[in-house]
Amino acid sequence: MSHLSNYISLKEYIPSGSPEIHHFEKKSKEIKIEKDNQVVVENLWISVDPYMRARMTEKKNYKAPYKLGEPMEGACIGKIIESNSNDFSIDEIVSSQYGWRDKYLCNSNSLKKINSENIPLEKYLGPLGMTGHTAYIGLFKIGNLKKGQTVLVSSAAGSVGSTVCQIAKILGCTVIASTGSDEKVDWLKNELKVDHAFNYKKVENLVLYLKELSPEGYDLYYDNVGGDFLEAAIFRMKNFGEIIICGRISQMNITNPGSGIKNIAHVLVKRLTIKGFLIFDHENDTENFNRDVKKWYLEKKIISRETVVEGLEKAPEAFIDLLNGKNIGKMLVKI
Ligand code: NDP
Repeated sequence: MSHLSNYISLKEYIPSGSPEIHHFEKKSKEIKIEKDNQVVVENLWISVDPYMRARMTEKKNYKAPYKLGEPMEGACIGKIIESNSNDFSIDEIVSSQYGWRDKYLCNSNSLKKINSENIPLEKYLGPLGMTGHTAYIGLFKIGNLKKGQTVLVSSAAGSVGSTVCQIAKILGCTVIASTGSDEKVDWLKNELKVDHAFNYKKVENLVLYLKELSPEGYDLYYDNVGGDFLEAAIFRMKNFGEIIICGRISQMNITNPGSGIKNIAHVLVKRLTIKGFLIFDHENDTENFNRDVKKWYLEKKIISRETVVEGLEKAPEAFIDLLNGKNIGKMLVKI
């Protein structure tokens, strides 16, 4: 049977500045099973993620640039609607990296089955998926989070950040959370129960403010933003503190990052550890994450929230909104 697959592709590379709607286009093509093991999947949820911005330039990053005119890749969850595979039957739920399309044809060996166990599917693109995994690996494998520490988190109301905050609370840490709107501050304080949340856009002198919040300093800073915030955090770390470099969203649209971190002397004198990581290197290290985070989710010790945009054609808008901070929790496109 033939199916019409609609998809979003990039029209031109965006070397710097904010992506805009005209950089994207919706296209379609016919797809049809022609080989053994092929299946057709109908997407239900599509994830938009900050790392995709780097793939919209021609520069080679840790993932290749998106191919102009081709469907954009990324995490998605869908159900099988036609199958020529003995391993996958109709209506089975699967995740893949086929991204911004409503239907796709693929070899079934590129799919992962999801046994949702009555948990809403979208959670498998958030705390139970890649962003939750990133929070967990960053805290426990890259960092060395310990009970009772003082933890600073930036982009704390986002998908990774909100999971980081809650895991640190589960461990009995004091959590100081930074975010970009008062509504997000309220969510962090009232629902996620962090010890202190603040709107960084309203803070005049971040170094002094971080000192006020924790005069003794911070044991661990989970960095999702880079730039000036990172520099301010370095000033306020305790001796032997750890900084986990997870993301640099404040620098994503910038071509010239300026003069760099000016207070490296503090890294030396305080004997800090600063470590970057990419979750793609830890794809096979999921056992502890699956066990712990699913348990915490079911016990309601981890709650999550999604900002949902409906319709494939709205995916570019969702992505642009994500970079502009319009999301609380995970930004998703519902098909
Ligand atoms: P988020 O849900 O946190 O969404 C992005 C958020 O970034 C926005 O909501 C906005 O929140 C914030 N933001 C945007 N611009 C700025 C700015 N100039 N300064 C400070 N904050 C800004 O996204 P994710 O949870 O998916 O990702 C969080 C970070 O983790 C990103 O940097 C991402 O690249 C990184 N990441 C890294 C991975 C890895 O393997 N190392 C894997 C997955 C994600 P606000 O309103 O608070 O400003």
